[in-house]
Amino acid sequence: MGNAFNLGRLFGIQFRLHYTWFIIFILITASLSWRVFPGSYPGWPLLLYWVIGTVTSLLFFASVLAHELAHSLIGRTQGIPIKSITLFIFGGMAQMTREAAHPGAEFKMAAAGPACSLMLGGLFALIYFLTQSTIEPVAAMAYWLAYINVALAAFNLIPGFPLDGGRVFRSILWRVTGNYKRSTRIATRVGQGMGYLFILGGILIMFILHDWLGGLWLAFIGWFLGNAASLSYRQAQWREGLHRFTASEVMTSDCPVVPPSDSVSQLVQGYAFATGHRCFLVAEEGRLMGMLTLDDTKTASRPDWGVTQVTEIMTPVDRLKVAHPDQDALSILEQMDESNLNQMPVVSEGRVIGLVARHNLMRFLGIRPRSGGIG
Ligand SMILES: [Zn+2]
Repeated sequence: MGNAFNLGRLFGIQFRLHYTWFIIFILITASLSWRVFPGSYPGWPLLLYWVIGTVTSLLFFASVLAHELAHSLIGRTQGIPIKSITLFIFGGMAQMTREAAHPGAEFKMAAAGPACSLMLGGLFALIYFLTQSTIEPVAAMAYWLAYINVALAAFNLIPGFPLDGGRVFRSILWRVTGNYKRSTRIATRVGQGMGYLFILGGILIMFILHDWLGGLWLAFIGWFLGNAASLSYRQAQWREGLHRFTASEVMTSDCPVVPPSDSVSQLVQGYAFATGHRCFLVAEEGRLMGMLTLDDTKTASRPDWGVTQVTEIMTPVDRLKVAHPDQDALSILEQMDESNLNQMPVVSEGRVIGLVARHNLMRFLGIRPRSGGIG
């Protein structure tokens, strides 16, 4: 997801706010302060509605973050690293760098989110019972947060992939049938079906109940869900595709090798302009010393290109991630995702025999993959 602000890192996970989040934050804050609280608790000062509305809205999104964090922390214990958590218009999304290796891992990771929301729902319900006859604004806040967290868990448990319930459903099918591909196909079909049902429900609500905003919102969620299900299925297909190939089959061997004595201007004029390559290996007598991309040349100022050696701006070999010739292409892509790399040299017995570039992998399969997410 592009166009997101970085909020910072916690537990090694990048937290991000997508610009569409501001829309939903304003909508929820306004509806709480304007409609929900004044409707149920008349007689508060106007300012109090807005203070409690804003705090409740922020606590709701904190609950969504906790839900995603539960997926992420449990996912990590199951060997599924999570790179980032993003809040956006439909809630939260944790970006996974790989899919679960076995059904048990997927089940635990997927169930962790709704379990966390249910626990938060219980916690807020307890706060409600403790404060209902003493501190009304706190009780009002806790009541709504208890309700919304339980609703969040219930919605996410709908068994359509890629919702959490769809992942739980897939993991059960996967455990029972032992067939990952078929389980994914069934769970994503259910996800698409749920999407259509939501759209249909939204249209009925609009035209029969004349609740235009509510109906439109439901249809919008259905459209998003159906799309996400189709995309997840395509992702599963290309992952399957990549899994069948090895590094030596997908690498390119026409990767320019430059000598360590070259200057940056020699590299740019001699290789980059002439060949259109963006990535270069620095090697002497076949022995890899490092790698550099055209982006690395920006670290040296242009007037200094003539006197800067390529070895000064390259990523040295001891800091490079390298692939083995018989490593499968899917695990290489996962390693690239985890380390934010776009290419990895393929090394056999200390010698570079080629380069796996992300765009080559995509071209190899004729598709444009993205890494998966869990909501
Ligand atoms: Zn979830």
